[in-house]
Amino acid sequence: MVSYGVITPIEYLKGVGPARAEVLKAELGIHTFGDLLRYYPFRYIDRTQFHKIERLHPDMAAAQVVGRLIQLEERGERKGRRLVGILKDDTGTMELVWFQSIVWLRKSLQVGGVYVVYGKPQLFQQNLSITHPEMELYQRGAKEIGSMHLQPVYSSTDKLKKLSLDSRGILKLQAALLETLSSQLNEELPDYIVNLHRLMPLRQALTAIHFPKNQEELGQAIRRLKFDELFFIQLKLLKSKLLNTQKFRGHRFEVVGERFNTFYHKHLPFSLTQAQKRVIKEIRKDTASGAQLNRLVQGDVGSGKTVVALMTMLLAVDNGFQACLMAPTEILAQQHYQSITRLLRNQIASVQLLTGSTPRKDRRVIHAQLEDGSLDILVGTHALIEDAVKFKNLGFVVIDEQHRFGVEQRAKLWRKNAIPPHMLVMTATPIPRTLAMTLYGDLDISVIDELPAGRKPIKTMHLYENSRLRMFGFMKEEIARGRQVYIVYPLIKESEKMDLLYLEAGLETLMKEFPLPHYRISVVHGKMPVKDKEFEMQRFVKGETQIMVATTVIEVGVNVPNATVMIIENAERFGLSQLHQLRGRVGRGAEQSYCILMSGSKLSKESKLRLETMVRTNDGFEIAEVDLQLRGPGDLAGTQQSGVLNLRLADLTTDQALLTEVRARVIKVFQEDPQLSDLRHARLRQYLSQKEPGISWEKIS
Ligand code: ADP
Ligand code: MG
Repeated sequence: MVSYGVITPIEYLKGVGPARAEVLKAELGIHTFGDLLRYYPFRYIDRTQFHKIERLHPDMAAAQVVGRLIQLEERGERKGRRLVGILKDDTGTMELVWFQSIVWLRKSLQVGGVYVVYGKPQLFQQNLSITHPEMELYQRGAKEIGSMHLQPVYSSTDKLKKLSLDSRGILKLQAALLETLSSQLNEELPDYIVNLHRLMPLRQALTAIHFPKNQEELGQAIRRLKFDELFFIQLKLLKSKLLNTQKFRGHRFEVVGERFNTFYHKHLPFSLTQAQKRVIKEIRKDTASGAQLNRLVQGDVGSGKTVVALMTMLLAVDNGFQACLMAPTEILAQQHYQSITRLLRNQIASVQLLTGSTPRKDRRVIHAQLEDGSLDILVGTHALIEDAVKFKNLGFVVIDEQHRFGVEQRAKLWRKNAIPPHMLVMTATPIPRTLAMTLYGDLDISVIDELPAGRKPIKTMHLYENSRLRMFGFMKEEIARGRQVYIVYPLIKESEKMDLLYLEAGLETLMKEFPLPHYRISVVHGKMPVKDKEFEMQRFVKGETQIMVATTVIEVGVNVPNATVMIIENAERFGLSQLHQLRGRVGRGAEQSYCILMSGSKLSKESKLRLETMVRTNDGFEIAEVDLQLRGPGDLAGTQQSGVLNLRLADLTTDQALLTEVRARVIKVFQEDPQLSDLRHARLRQYLSQKEPGISWEKIS
């Protein structure tokens, strides 16, 4: 008697065999029974929801039609070559169009057959059509699916279809699989949690997601499976958070000492916002607790994160430790260094800058000072994590704009001291709450949700090319008032050469419009040698030039309070968070600032929504929510590297309530039973003891 389990290789499933197994692995990553079981349908055909052809409308996102394929022919040549089918129901006819897989489709589609057709209706030259529709033979399915109201649709590929593994073929495999496995699908959650949260039993849920009896059952199944997905992510995250606090004794900062106090009372040129004070207090509390601090500080651009970083570093210095601040770019590191030395006025603590372009000689001095402990604060770039950089007693690490750094780089800093230093990561990319809980579930989070007083909200407008002269006029007015202007061009790797040409063309126009000696222009782009970049940047910072033409290298952090106008060329090509970051370069002084989004007149729906959102609001969190909805979590800053967002079912934009429920439960589990030693948590303990490939969460932050 052979016993099958979820880890049984897929070729052993009845109906699979070596050839199909090969393709399932290569095309869908399905290696085992378990993989197939978790290959969920991406939608369901609701047999009660069909549209009539005469009712179709190009505004519909998608529609499902049933009709007879009465004609199928190839039209056009070369690039215009396409397969066109005519579908007819009792109200009219429409076209179905394919540009790909023509040979294969000609063979497999049956003229005269009745099909369920699904796709987005379009109007092209007054003809209603659907391009690349999903096609499902209606009659053949009718018997098999029997009373199935909701027929699952699985995504498939050409190669799989050639082995008869289209959506229906996959459904057949699922049926065989569930029969084979049914007795083995044991609960993974503790029974009491299943009961408390009124979850459908796992076995039933896994069956129902492939073979739902009705919407109600399907809804319950999906809720159950989403719950599990989120639950086990939170379990891992919160476990490592717990481990960190237990395992990693942190340096205890006993006192708020003289340097901190002197700085606060004598040097600080402004009063802190309530939010800044609150965050400093939160950090102070952590560092006094004896546990290692792992905290994310989120604060919109201009909210004053640098001074928070500085003051908490002084706290470390007061307690006899060294501190460092790492920034993602040379320019940023330099700015941090300058603002910090300016704030400290060469008193209170010693500070050095270390970057890739620090001369060897200086580097040696810095290394020596770090090791003998005479250097208090080191500011720099990736250069900080090189092995040659050794601290005498590193107690506090600040990482700015952290999403630019990989996990491994953070871990390296972590290891620079026998007792790991406190870790503070700062980001100006606001992350929606749900995402933060998932992505940084193992960190504590502080939010600076207030801008320094006296700032005027930036006015944003969206202009088309035909208003360019108006824009130039406006620039001149602002420059006449002594203000400075940024003009930013997109620079995207794939079209780098073209982009640079645009920038150069733009520059040429500008130089005619803003001639020397009256106007002076700086240019900065990523292709320039670092030295030239720095030089140009500095001229702008010092106010020697009034216009800064740049690519997105200036996106993060750069601080020139006298700059009041941000012009973004081809704004439709930027993502929302990038636009928001760029806009944050202005509005840093007391003057009214402006952001002008220039775009072409042909805009996609999405671009339009992005630009409208920018015009409507300055609130980074609101913008992040829209961004999350537009792009999905996988594309948001920092998520690619994290690997935690390979969610199959749960959707962080729509499942916030469920995530909150799940997280509260997991927190309760650990509160009641930190070691998971309780018998009722045996399944959870077992889950965590399985070695999983991928990231070791304990190391992160
Ligand atoms: P970000 O959070 O974007 O890194 P910065 O730390 O660069 O912001 O601060 C932006 C500007 O605001 C700097 O010029 C800084 O000196 C100033 N600033 C910071 N905190 C305050 C405050 N409480 N009151 C007035 N100005 C402040
Ligand atoms: Mg900053």
